[in-house]
Amino acid sequence: MKRLEIDDSKCIGCGSCVYKDNEHFDFNDSQTASVISNANLDAPELQEAIDYCPTGAISIKDESNNNASQNCQCENCDCENCDCEK
Ligand code: SF4
Repeated sequence: MKRLEIDDSKCIGCGSCVYKDNEHFDFNDSQTASVISNANLDAPELQEAIDYCPTGAISIKDESNNNASQNCQCENCDCENCDCEK
């Protein structure tokens, strides 16, 4: 299963990803971006958000061998490796 990841050490909180794709990104309490959904990862808006991130902080990880993330439903997930808002 694939999932979105934001490298917090690279995110500068510019908001470009939130503006381009608010299905997948939103601001968190630290005014940097967080992943809010791992659905619909083929969306063109998502690719645009990734391409326009000025620091290259966004990536899509393939974790097909990670059973915990395979069960991630984002709205009620308890997996340890998920960046989504719980
Ligand atoms: S576009 Fe990149 S740097 Fe800007 S808020 Fe999103 S993840 Fe952070």
